[in-house]
Amino acid sequence: MFTTKTVDIIVPCYNEEDVLNLFYTETEKVLNKIENYAFRYIFVDDGSRDKTLSILKDLATKADNVFYISFARNFKKEAAMYAGLKNSTGDYVIVMDADLQHPPTMIPDMLRATEEGYDCCAARRTSRTGESKIRSAFSRMFYRLHNRFTDISLVQGAVDFRIMSRQMVDAVLSLSEVQRFSKGIFSWVGFDTKWLPYENVERPLGTTKWSFWGLFKYAIDGITAFSVAPLRMVSAMGFVISLFAFIYIIITLVQTLIFGIDVPGYVTTLCALLFLGGIIELSIGILGEYIGHIYMETKSRPIYIAKQTNLKPLGKESDNAKN
Ligand code: UDP
Ligand code: MG
Repeated sequence: MFTTKTVDIIVPCYNEEDVLNLFYTETEKVLNKIENYAFRYIFVDDGSRDKTLSILKDLATKADNVFYISFARNFKKEAAMYAGLKNSTGDYVIVMDADLQHPPTMIPDMLRATEEGYDCCAARRTSRTGESKIRSAFSRMFYRLHNRFTDISLVQGAVDFRIMSRQMVDAVLSLSEVQRFSKGIFSWVGFDTKWLPYENVERPLGTTKWSFWGLFKYAIDGITAFSVAPLRMVSAMGFVISLFAFIYIIITLVQTLIFGIDVPGYVTTLCALLFLGGIIELSIGILGEYIGHIYMETKSRPIYIAKQTNLKPLGKESDNAKN
């Protein structure tokens, strides 16, 4: 006999008024065919400036399994996912985007994977249609760099569309860092993950919230959050340069002793100065990245501030929330 399992679907939403209703009807079509599971939506309104929240409230009055948490401002998707996970109670938790780029039709396959014994089942896109060549190239470079520098390995094309067991969700939540890089965290906690490939889907409505610069910063944070390899690189660079300098000093010393003092090369001096200056700046920059992370973490500010929700009882972070 089957017992009904509960599944929470977490959906971060930022200015998604165009697509939310479509998302809900499309997802409902899929969920209505699934038996033995009870679904609950937890929409996280990440400080949207459009009608997202009122659409969510509207959905919540029409269906009793629709819940929302609304942030006091835009805290970014990482915070929205965290808020959803923190407030979830289901035996399983699904995280997916609101823009239908994560096909709800994959949910039955994901549930099946958990029945097969996997702790987690995640989607991986095999194509990047609708994305610029430069962006794809940078993305591939990021994965290569990340996997080289850090101990965890990120799967190419992995997206934030996954189902996780309660145990895994609790593990993810036990990582208390304020600056969260979920792709890394999901990999770091381990657990058996099944990967489901799918063809990239373009957004039916609305626009992407990512700028190129935003992605770049995200990539740097992703590496520095999981590895101190760049710091070691700085040490290694210092060592190699010192070694060269030492050899050069010996050569010059011997030359001076044998041939007397030569007219010093102005260009060589300038080049050496600029080169070393550059290396020093870079090293300070890398150090700075880490100090910045330490600084932000030591403040231990809440990851998000919720303003309104129809969930009861509220999670810890949202003690200041009112209904
Ligand atoms: N999102 C969010 N907060 C943000 C930016 C995005 O909650 O600050 C949500 C957004 O509403 C969507 C998901 O994160 O559900 C993915 O965003 P988007 O589609 O813009 O990213 P892309 O698919 O282009 O990577
Ligand atoms: Mg999208």
